[in-house]
Amino acid sequence: MLAPNPTPLLSHDQIQERVRSLAAEIARDLDPEMPVLVLGLLRGCFVFVADLIRALSREGVQVREVDFIIVSSYGSGTTSSGNINIERDMSTDPAGKQVLLVDDILDTGNTLKAIRDTYLAGREFGSLKTCVLLDKPSRRTVELNADYVGFSIEDYFVVGYGLDYDQKHRELPHIAVMSEEE
Ligand code: 5GP
Ligand code: MG
Repeated sequence: MLAPNPTPLLSHDQIQERVRSLAAEIARDLDPEMPVLVLGLLRGCFVFVADLIRALSREGVQVREVDFIIVSSYGSGTTSSGNINIERDMSTDPAGKQVLLVDDILDTGNTLKAIRDTYLAGREFGSLKTCVLLDKPSRRTVELNADYVGFSIEDYFVVGYGLDYDQKHRELPHIAVMSEEE
């Protein structure tokens, strides 16, 4: 049976330290005059967003609004496709705001690409930056990179820190690889 490997891939402390330095990078690039909208892609990102906005606050960035969208991507099998379905739309107007689009993992890139090029393309916003906690560059099928990446990892299926396997393991404080139980 598959279970989270007891040895963390990324410990809670490693994640906290990286969230802190990411927030410092993001803070440096933000325009202090323009309101910031943090837009998370549910559900995997909710723990990351919670830590990120508090880390940004410690860097002197007051986030004006936090909003979430729920997207599902339909395609064949377990990999996402470019066809996304907005299950919950944002309820904020991004016009005149610096949008920080946050996702848990950048895998094939289909989801983020569709959000950026289809969903957000028709809307008015001040600026757009993308931020992901994890990146699996070896899995990419579209040309896209995030502006801010927490950690680059190998092609593992990971859980914890908000990330699930069949809705389980989101509560783990660290990130673990799903592997065969011994
Ligand atoms: P893609 O970049 O392929 O469109 O999809 C990225 C999404 O697939 C992520 O937001 C995440 O929901 C899901 N995903 C990709 N890799 C993993 C993984 O290793 N663990 C978990 N829990 N979700 C993943
Ligand atoms: Mg996701």
